[in-house]
Amino acid sequence: MAAEILDGKKVAQEVRAALKEEVARLKAGGLTPGLAVVLVGEDPASKVYVKQKEKACREIGFASQVHRLPEDTGEERLLRLIHELNADRAVHGILVQLPLPKQLDANRVVQAIDPAKDVDGFHPFNAGRLAAGLPTVVPCTPRGIIHLLDAYGIPIAGRHAVVVGRSNIVGKPLAQLLLGRDATVTVCHSKTDDLAAFTRTADILVAAVGRPRLITRDMVKPGAVVVDVGINRLPEGIVGDVDFKAVREVAHYITPVPGGVGPLTIAMLLKNTLEAALAGRGGGPRGE
Ligand code: NAD
Repeated sequence: MAAEILDGKKVAQEVRAALKEEVARLKAGGLTPGLAVVLVGEDPASKVYVKQKEKACREIGFASQVHRLPEDTGEERLLRLIHELNADRAVHGILVQLPLPKQLDANRVVQAIDPAKDVDGFHPFNAGRLAAGLPTVVPCTPRGIIHLLDAYGIPIAGRHAVVVGRSNIVGKPLAQLLLGRDATVTVCHSKTDDLAAFTRTADILVAAVGRPRLITRDMVKPGAVVVDVGINRLPEGIVGDVDFKAVREVAHYITPVPGGVGPLTIAMLLKNTLEAALAGRGGGPRGE
């Protein structure tokens, strides 16, 4: 039997509807959550992501602002903007869209963001708290993946989760979250010898690589839960890191691309911003 689809679009809509009601209540009480997005340069994918985030903010009732800076922006100019946004009391969340043009050092830029406003959860302060198992701002994509698994009642504790990809944005923080939920976690990467030997033992297999259809049917244990984070733009359209059609025949659950993890990433950005606004007011716990 073909795997059940983990419908990220539907789950994300539910999250956004609940958040919208909360935003309306907060606005009535005089608090409008504000997100500032900074886009440097002309990267086509980044422009699409920023547009999606802008639209999501508008729909939910946030005060959003997008700062578009030219490709040749210097570090000083960008850091000055971040310091202004750090000091702006109407801005609760700051997001610098990555990747940055090559003259800019993403690490220095991310570290300039006030950790309390770091709604991407990329600041080392927040990454460290996550690794220590402390409440913190959780990066949007990993948080969205856990939310999706929970929405379908998929057990995590005691399962073997294999995460393919070790980026600071997806793979590493997801591994931390899965550990925090008592999974046994294996992290694979570009230097992993015999990837298939690991993926075949996964109860929960997450592909966050950026290689079209890297995960083939023979690499998946029958009955596994398969989460495809990859976004690969091919002439025939957007595909994930998983050979969806073939893997669907063996998996128990699978996320589609598009319509799987992507919509939840945006929903969690909204959630993180709302929580930052609440925390800024002196209330509300952090994280999931
Ligand atoms: P990245 O390039 O920073 O990291 C890729 C990881 O894959 C690295 O850790 C690398 O070691 C590993 N890797 C590369 N080739 C491999 C191979 N042959 N076998 C095993 N591992 C290999 O990428 P990222 O930022 O983590 O993003 C990964 C993918 O997820 C991209 O396609 C990106 O567009 C997508 N993405 C999607 C969302 C979403 O919301 N759906 C969010 C973030 C990233």
